Amino acid sequence: MKLRLIVCLVVPFLISGICFSQIQEPRGCANVEAYRHSKMAPFSAGGAVFEEWFSKLEKSEFNRSAVNEDEIYTIPVVVHVLHNGEAIGVGKNLSDERVKGQIDILNNDYGKKEGTPGFNINPVGVDTRIRFCLASLDPNGLPTNGIVRINTQVDGFDFNPYNTTLKNTSLWNPDKYLNIWTVKFLVGNHIGYAQYPFIQPAWADSLNFPQPVPDVQPDGVVIEYRVFGNVPSGESGPFRSYNTGRTVTHEIGHYLGLLHIWGDGNGCSDPNATDYCEDTPKQNTFTAGCPNSVASCTTGIAAMKEDYMDYTNDVCMNIFTANQKKRMRIVMRNCIRRKSILQNPVPCGYITDTQYSKPNIPVIKDVKLYFKNNDIASGVLVVEAPDGLLIERIVLFDGLGKEFKVRIEKNTTDFLLDVRSLAQGIYLAKIETSNGAVKNIRFRKL
Ligand SMILES: [Zn+2]
Repeated sequence: MKLRLIVCLVVPFLISGICFSQIQEPRGCANVEAYRHSKMAPFSAGGAVFEEWFSKLEKSEFNRSAVNEDEIYTIPVVVHVLHNGEAIGVGKNLSDERVKGQIDILNNDYGKKEGTPGFNINPVGVDTRIRFCLASLDPNGLPTNGIVRINTQVDGFDFNPYNTTLKNTSLWNPDKYLNIWTVKFLVGNHIGYAQYPFIQPAWADSLNFPQPVPDVQPDGVVIEYRVFGNVPSGESGPFRSYNTGRTVTHEIGHYLGLLHIWGDGNGCSDPNATDYCEDTPKQNTFTAGCPNSVASCTTGIAAMKEDYMDYTNDVCMNIFTANQKKRMRIVMRNCIRRKSILQNPVPCGYITDTQYSKPNIPVIKDVKLYFKNNDIASGVLVVEAPDGLLIERIVLFDGLGKEFKVRIEKNTTDFLLDVRSLAQGIYLAKIETSNGAVKNIRFRKL
């Protein structure tokens, strides 16, 4: 494993550009530093073993060509708001609206949603088909809004050496949830870091490498609260260039296996400086601020300063590329604690209506699911498709993510679903209609 140079934590420097003209610290993503001494580094994104495995996997998936990259991958999120006794909505104790706003920002950015700052017209800019929602069931199967508030009785943390302490204050099973902690960082200019995905020990066992030891850090993303969501004017402290939630977009990119766009290396002449994405032009180092144009390592081609994995200001960012999409989705399908999120989906309560529809297909709002005669005690659900549509598929999930496939007849416009044999609890019905749209509806079984 080559040693990557630490570029993102160099001392603050002076940038004068069109967006600001005062001393401004570069975006302090601590990911590279967090991994520098990790035993897992060779087996994590960017490490030699991981990238060799990834390259083989990519080729074999390409040869099979059976992967549907249009399918929506939804990631249930829990946000742990770490505060010091402030009232809800004050300081570190972020409001529910601020948290929901961040989820919207993620979906706009990962969805390249038109009419939002996440939209772009770059030829390689894509909708990643990855979406985020706040979990609506907690690990015990109880209803939740996906936001956990914890009075830590301290002002803040540093990522090292308190990282483990910080994360251990609250953790939901990372096999099922993306954990995000909002905190105040006390030292340095850190504003976020994430756990990279790593490869399965089963595969590593077959190699002449040391057995990988699971990282001691619980999986997830840690974010400075003053850059989380849409930050109200005057509340971003020293981080006012990062006030529209793009730090979370960036860090989740790491969580899904993306590296910094400049490859965390030693400039254009470093052959090992790569982000393993061919459609992001190689660049000398990170771009800070919001410059008009920056040269890449290739004459005549500009650096992609709009990429979420660079260090530019929030207002400058709007691109995930086709290769970055592919890389994140391969990670989602194959890596520990990423694929399990897809295999055992936890119900989500807060998600905007457009999340599950394929492009150009209207969102279905009028699929109905109700107990027969509106009597919950009947134990029989009625599922109704809107006019002109058929019900194609119904899958039920319990609070632990266990899946119950429902056999339905072809050309069904409405359907009776007997759930009397199910245990008491809250369930999620995922109903797919003949136009390809999917509606998720929760119900309670007595
Ligand atoms: Zn980063």
